[in-house]
Amino acid sequence: MTDDDQDEWLDYASAGYGGAIDPWEDLVPIDESEESDIELDDEDDFEDDTPSLRDMEAPPCPAPMGIRHIIRLGSCDHCLARIGGRLNEGGLPTHEHGARIRADAIERDSMLSEISTDYCPFCEDLFDDIQNIVVRILRETEGVEFNSLQMGYHISKELVEEEDYLRKRFGARGAPPLKASFAAAVELALKEKMKEVNLVKEVPDVMILVDSLTLRVKAEVRPVFLYGRYRKMSRDVPQTRWPCRSCKGRKGGCESCEMTGLQYRHSVQDLIGEPIRQSLEAGDTSFHGMGREDIDVRCLGRGRPFVIEVKQPKKRTLDIEELLKSIAVGAEGLVEVDELRQSTRPEVARIKETKAEKSYRIRFEIEGDPIDQDDAEQRILSLSGAMLEQRTPKRVAHRRSDLVRKRELVSIENVVVEDKEIQFDVRCQTGTYVKEMVHSDDGRTTPSVAEVLERACEVLWLDVLEIHAE
Ligand SMILES: [Zn+2]
Ligand SMILES: [Zn+2]
Repeated sequence: MTDDDQDEWLDYASAGYGGAIDPWEDLVPIDESEESDIELDDEDDFEDDTPSLRDMEAPPCPAPMGIRHIIRLGSCDHCLARIGGRLNEGGLPTHEHGARIRADAIERDSMLSEISTDYCPFCEDLFDDIQNIVVRILRETEGVEFNSLQMGYHISKELVEEEDYLRKRFGARGAPPLKASFAAAVELALKEKMKEVNLVKEVPDVMILVDSLTLRVKAEVRPVFLYGRYRKMSRDVPQTRWPCRSCKGRKGGCESCEMTGLQYRHSVQDLIGEPIRQSLEAGDTSFHGMGREDIDVRCLGRGRPFVIEVKQPKKRTLDIEELLKSIAVGAEGLVEVDELRQSTRPEVARIKETKAEKSYRIRFEIEGDPIDQDDAEQRILSLSGAMLEQRTPKRVAHRRSDLVRKRELVSIENVVVEDKEIQFDVRCQTGTYVKEMVHSDDGRTTPSVAEVLERACEVLWLDVLEIHAE
């Protein structure tokens, strides 16, 4: 699972080409060399004046000769306003300001009225597409609830470079570059249609990426995060959804999973996440717990902190009380959640990194004859404060590297010896293998309860009593 997928937007929302992530790398570049077949050879007097104009000397705008030059180059009204360097008296809309600059220039040199404006080399006519882009943004976000929007733009490297060259050579000093002006124009037009929406630079509800070459508009609805703590009252519910082993969780499932695609019918993730997903009309959920307990381990006390990530939600307004109610109904007897609150992606990292001590209650059976109560209790209490050395347990060796971890056994209390069954409460450092601390895992954990009792021990059950966080 990638926690970072949405945050990639932050990288390219404001980045130009050359950034680490190029979401448009699948695009096929358009061959723009159509006019290269012009028959030059049999027309001796033919002059292709575009390149010569492009490289000709001219004073920069706003000098009249500079403005004359960029009009001859084919500048559109929008770019005339943008790089012409003339004051926009009366605050006209940009293209009207540009038209006025053109009219003034034509007054000085009537020849300029003949110049074609079919193709603007400063923007490749990008500003003509503004309304089209706005329509596409509205279409992409239809039916989605959001308050804030962040925009990102991709403009081809060739155009950015060419525009940069021309603007620095002929444009007014300090004229804004194409991308900034294009962004401002799109956002101005968008504001007309989405009056309620805030355009933001970070943590938006929706991100929009506009590709200027294809006019493709992509909307990404950012997830909703909710923080809470869960208690797990059942010994056969895993924390996260487990795909069926037979069919690998394929859609429609198989016979062995009764068409659910799931190895276990319930999971903490779905018992909590499904009511929320449905309420927010979302796509899917990711579940981020502060550690996890085994399937057969209950989690009691104040419960285990978690953040649930609700992906592609169509709605984002939360009715926490309603959500808690529907979780309580669907998860009755299995999982309990007392409180929920809105969270953020950084909190996912926080709860994953928190190293909270945990308290457990564990019950096990000893092999052989019953044991002297006081003697057994003293031996077990002697482990209080011990530093355990735990070599990776056999049961997880297939997915964890084989090494010896040192974990502190902080305290032991409430030892109860009943015939051959013994129970006690233990508080230990995060990452302690608690079952192994009892049965020793064939000596891989030392010291251990089995070691101090000099008996083989079999764990009957284990509960998390408390996660000492917050
Ligand atoms: Zn232009
Ligand atoms: Zn299956």
